[in-house]
Amino acid sequence: MNKETLKKNLREIPDFPIPGILFYDVTTLFKNAECLQEMIDSLYELYKDKGITKVVGIESRGFILGGALAARLGAGFIMARKPGKLPAEVLEETYAKEYGTDTIQIHKDAINENDVVLLHDDLLATGGTMAATLRLVNKAGAKKAYVNFVIELEKLNGRKAFPADVDITTFLKL
Ligand code: AMP
Repeated sequence: MNKETLKKNLREIPDFPIPGILFYDVTTLFKNAECLQEMIDSLYELYKDKGITKVVGIESRGFILGGALAARLGAGFIMARKPGKLPAEVLEETYAKEYGTDTIQIHKDAINENDVVLLHDDLLATGGTMAATLRLVNKAGAKKAYVNFVIELEKLNGRKAFPADVDITTFLKL
């Protein structure tokens, strides 16, 4: 992965969605054909020998590379979504946010005990969203789970939200 190319193309928006937050806008990485290809290729190289059977993408920016990677790996793709979006029976996890709580869901029949799962999202901030999704995947009985983000905000120490033995990779540490 050419990290400089990615860094150069990542747009930063101050004070979005609320004052004080520096928002890393990955739409500019998805828009750029070279960046898009590079991210998919790098993810494929990292995970091609892990026996991944399902990729879980987190709503909504995790759907883009998650879907592309699933196709490339010959794996299935699962959407982890906010409440009220998935039409069939769901498993859900609620997690604490800075103010209040949030909930994430997957379909009950999305994952089984034979699955080796890669969970993917665009950005690791506090880790709350992904850690809750990982608990969901484990609750569904997955044999093994890996975690990936494009960007890691190191100052927020999001890795602390996960058990120590979880295999987490990130491309860009900011
Ligand atoms: P967290 O659960 O705190 O790790 O938050 C992760 C989710 O919020 C990811 O799905 C990110 O897309 C989004 N997010 C949090 N902080 C930022 C940020 N500074 N820039 C862009 N997206 C963010």
